[in-house]
Amino acid sequence: MKHKGILVVVSGFSGAGKGTLMKQLVKTYDAYALSVSMTTRAPRPGETEGKDYFFISKEEFEKKIADGALVEYAQYCGNYYGTPKEYVEKQLEHGKDVILEIEIQGALKIKERFPSALLLFVTPPSMKELKRRLCGRGTETEEIIRARLSRAGEEAEGIEAYDYLVINDDLETCVKQMHALIQGAHSAPLRNEAFIANIRTQLEELSKGEK
Ligand code: 5GP
Repeated sequence: MKHKGILVVVSGFSGAGKGTLMKQLVKTYDAYALSVSMTTRAPRPGETEGKDYFFISKEEFEKKIADGALVEYAQYCGNYYGTPKEYVEKQLEHGKDVILEIEIQGALKIKERFPSALLLFVTPPSMKELKRRLCGRGTETEEIIRARLSRAGEEAEGIEAYDYLVINDDLETCVKQMHALIQGAHSAPLRNEAFIANIRTQLEELSKGEK
């Protein structure tokens, strides 16, 4: 199926500031729709159902998998996370670029299923800064922070699978850079196959002297 919008996968270490970045991106430009994932992890203080995540039980999540209702899903630090299919399909059809803020296993599955997806990897300028941001959140235990840093080490091994690296130092600069990268991606031949096929047909007709 051909979509009008493109799928934009954004990954990055936990604490990289992706959440804030994505919210700012969709607020600034109306070309984008942010997919809200389903998860079995408990809500953090301040998180809202349906806005940050759809918080569901393990049984409900496994039913979604069985029903084929997820575009992709993965396990991360002992919990399930997945992207609901219906919203993504609908927004792409409406011409929106859909942002999936997901971890690396999910990102690789998306790339396999949708080769024209754009993959961006967000990182803070240094890993010292990452730890500072994780601790500064004040919502995670020491053990969770350690698990997330260890997971970051594993994820760092997969960065080359992404199309672009985005260094999140200053929020506004970073939002502008992401917008520029996504807009640029629209011009890649890979994402304009119908247009290219059309100009080839026209050239063929013209060269035969047809109108
Ligand atoms: P957190 O618990 O910090 O909200 O998220 C943990 C990790 O799960 C983050 O790297 C986040 O990007 C990722 N994540 C969130 N939603 C999804 C999803 O729907 N699918 C996948 N594969 N990863 C997700």
